[in-house]
Amino acid sequence: MAKHVLTLYNSLSRTEEPFKPLKKGKVSLYSCGPTVYNQAHLGNLRTYLFNDVLKRSLQYLGYTVTQVMNMTDVDDKTIKASQAQGIPLRALTRKYEDLFLADLTALNILHPTHITRATEYIPEMITLIETLIKKKYAYKAQDGIYFSIAKSKNYGKLANLDKQKKSQERIKGDEYDKQHAHDFALWKFHMPEDGDVVWPAAFGPGRPGWHIECSAMSMKLLGTSFDIHTGAIDLLFPHHTNEIAQSEAATGKKFVHYWLHGGFLTMKEGKMSKSLGNIHTLPELITQGYLPAHYRYLCLQTHYRSSLQFSFENLEAAKQAYERVKRKIIELKATTHKGADKTKDYQTQFTSTLQNDINIPAALQVFLKTLDDISFNSQKRLALLEHFDEVLGLEVKNMKEEKVTVPKAVQALVQAREEARATKQWAEADILRTRIKEAGFILTDTSQGPKVEKI
Ligand code: AMP
Ligand code: ZN
Repeated sequence: MAKHVLTLYNSLSRTEEPFKPLKKGKVSLYSCGPTVYNQAHLGNLRTYLFNDVLKRSLQYLGYTVTQVMNMTDVDDKTIKASQAQGIPLRALTRKYEDLFLADLTALNILHPTHITRATEYIPEMITLIETLIKKKYAYKAQDGIYFSIAKSKNYGKLANLDKQKKSQERIKGDEYDKQHAHDFALWKFHMPEDGDVVWPAAFGPGRPGWHIECSAMSMKLLGTSFDIHTGAIDLLFPHHTNEIAQSEAATGKKFVHYWLHGGFLTMKEGKMSKSLGNIHTLPELITQGYLPAHYRYLCLQTHYRSSLQFSFENLEAAKQAYERVKRKIIELKATTHKGADKTKDYQTQFTSTLQNDINIPAALQVFLKTLDDISFNSQKRLALLEHFDEVLGLEVKNMKEEKVTVPKAVQALVQAREEARATKQWAEADILRTRIKEAGFILTDTSQGPKVEKI
């Protein structure tokens, strides 16, 4: 039986709650975006895939979604990277922003309604900080303006802080000249190492802290109270905890009604992260012969709140599963079979998986069951699968037999490599293999000679 109500796990109450948007039929959604100082890794991308299926599910269930996602284009990391590469901050952040957006497109992630760059909302951040100073929630220290958590009601409710050992370690990076270990910088006064990254403000020239960026941008576009805020679980503390404290102190209203956090993509040694040095990127998967859709399929198989261990074996299995689906869809497109119309039954099942805290792995199972139900009228079955695909994003509509033609230039490279191998010029042969790969083709040596396939 379908529940007819969408329930979402809210990190704030640590329970599944029925979802009631502030405005009937509409959802305001803010997703913490990337810090654009390097190529996103697969862990980051898992979180954006989670945002995507959440948004698609809400739309499938009939809501109109306004989604805002920010680009953190000024903070310690972006400034350091621009200096290390000897290019202006804006040039650096635009480069990584473009790469990030290309990853989203490749993964068939729907673009947010608004993408906001932190550097384009500095006046809003300054106004917010001025309000906090006026209301005595913020104070001036030697190196910046700080938020005083002692003044904040319910500080740390989201992270269950009062029940947790208040770890000094976790906030070490934020420690400046402050009154309380958990106080955090709203504004950092200009330091010589910041170079030309500085904005004027009545309380002193400088740049915003990371947390204030998201509060200012989300409230500007979605209002002082909005429905859903997302991020991966590592953002729960301190980032989201601090966003709540400063926003609610400034407005006196409840900031966000539902906090949704995604689980990590992990490797054997723990979370995939740049600091552990265990990262893989989407372009890297593509050069190894995988499609972005294979990674998307892998992520769909695990619920967004569970952690997902990445390995090339798992990715290979997802690739096989995706390719099987594709073959069956292509077959179905060529079939005319007048079976029963089971649309309603499968649609009810599919909807109830989404209503159950966006259970995409279960939704995928309903999709597969529908696909394999040969007693279900083929045309109606295909139409329903295309409808389900509005959530899954596997691009069912575009699935067709691909006739791969190897371009003449690539054929010439393959020929040249064969000649290099025949004359034992191994280094030359390796260079040619790389050039074939760069052209988008993968070459395997078989007993019948070289086999060339599109990556
Ligand atoms: P950053 O660009 O570092 O601000 O991170 C962008 C997003 O990716 C944030 O929501 C992070 O919480 C998330 N993230 C970072 N590492 C992982 C991971 N291994 N698995 C899932 N999400 C991650
Ligand atoms: Zn954020």
